[in-house]
Amino acid sequence: MDAIETDDQIGGRVVIVGAGHASAQLCASLRQEGWTGGIELIGSEPSLPYQRPPLSKAYLAGKADLDELLIRRPDFYAKQGVTFRNAHVTAISPDRHEVTTDDGTRIGYDKLVLCTGARPRRLDLPGAGLAGVHYLREVADVEAIRESARDAHHAVIIGAGYIGLETAASLRALGIGVTVLEAAGRVLERVTAPEVSDFYERVHREEGVDLRVGVGVAEIEGRERVDGVRLTDGVRIDADLVILGIGVVPNVELAEEAGLAVGDGIVIDPHGRTSDPDILAAGDCATYVDARYERRLRIESVPNAVEQAKSVAASICGNDRPISALPWFWSDQYDLKLQIAGLNIGYDEVILRGDPTRDRAFACFYLAQGRLIAADCVNRPQEFAFSKRAIAEGLAPDRRALADPEASLKALLDPAPAHSAR
Ligand code: FAD
Ligand code: NAP
Repeated sequence: MDAIETDDQIGGRVVIVGAGHASAQLCASLRQEGWTGGIELIGSEPSLPYQRPPLSKAYLAGKADLDELLIRRPDFYAKQGVTFRNAHVTAISPDRHEVTTDDGTRIGYDKLVLCTGARPRRLDLPGAGLAGVHYLREVADVEAIRESARDAHHAVIIGAGYIGLETAASLRALGIGVTVLEAAGRVLERVTAPEVSDFYERVHREEGVDLRVGVGVAEIEGRERVDGVRLTDGVRIDADLVILGIGVVPNVELAEEAGLAVGDGIVIDPHGRTSDPDILAAGDCATYVDARYERRLRIESVPNAVEQAKSVAASICGNDRPISALPWFWSDQYDLKLQIAGLNIGYDEVILRGDPTRDRAFACFYLAQGRLIAADCVNRPQEFAFSKRAIAEGLAPDRRALADPEASLKALLDPAPAHSAR
């Protein structure tokens, strides 16, 4: 492909703050939508945008290197006329249409896109700053974890969300003993039904994880290096490695200081525009009102970052296409591929296809007033593909067929009136 000639004077300049999943997509989509001006990508991390999902999986397990993680090769950015600058943006001046970086450089923009992502929520506990205690968000974090893991015998993971469970699986594969501590009553409580939480608790225990739910952490112990974790009930767990995965907070401060509307994220409209018409946002840092769920959401996932970036690129180029894709997620743990279609907000019924108390493959369908609204599919790609379509089409599938692993799901997609709620 030939290099794209860009002319900032003629086409204007898009400045993108944050070099992650949303911005990698934005660089490609801006050109696809017809943007001929300059594109300047500014990121705090030294690398071009890379895939974060492998950080808790293949990269942590030592099965991939950074080069393989890059979302697009360096020559892609050169050919697309994208300039990458490794710097931290410290301020936005909407009046002057410029941003300032940590070395004092001021960069003008015609359109500014904030793709600042999120950062780990910190745990304010005695001992949280000891050597051997880690968060996991960036490549640099995993480098440090791998260094600590080299001589580690037992890891304590605080938080049984996606980071906690995926990291537990990766550390078990490295032969390290693992205890997982979760404050809530079950794992993945906010995103799945109890049946799915029970399944993951069973599997992790079968894989040798000491999983404890409903527990509080009082202190991380050690002199310079961590040597244990003390629970609020006084119990002590020996540990030479601690990983915290207790959620993230969106990076909104730049937007807030520039006077943009901010809630649990930078407030955007369905086209990705903030309260300033020349500033847009996408990804983990952004919150929008989802037309399907009729509520304000801030979704933390790669597909969401990618879809929002596409809408932002379209709106910058005057080809408005609102954010409309069905949210979906995935998580890899051991031999299990979890694929989630939709959000289970407001479900009133769960239908299981397969037996999660025994098998390692099943689907959990979430219904609201008979209509399929979400599905958690473990090693069930066909059920996942079916669910994405059925949810998007607003179907109310036959319950018995959903529950019967032998029944064809394809037949349920038949637009026969009996199967459609519309
Ligand atoms: P990010 O990818 O976080 O990128 C934001 C970038 O902006 C960062 O590099 C940050 O340093 C930079 N930045 C912030 N502020 C500034 C500033 N002021 N100046 C310059 N740069 C700045 N999602 C899935 O869908 N599936 C998975 O399996 C999955 N696994 C994950 C595993 C791990 C270990 C982690 C951490 C996340 C995982 N996620 C997964 C979530 C997914 O990675 C995020 O939802 C996604 O990265 C969001 O993309 P983003 O572009 O909004 O932000
Ligand atoms: P998360 O999915 O929000 O899970 C955090 C978990 O930690 C929750 O279960 C939370 O319980 C619990 N917790 C909170 N405070 C705690 C405490 N003091 N002690 C023990 N447990 C505590 O966040 P995450 O796992 O840290 O992941 C960070 C980000 O990376 C998220 O955006 C996530 O979506 C993303 N990620 C995604 C994937 C994937 O999609 N496969 C994989 C890895 C990471 P409460 O819910 O009760 O607060």
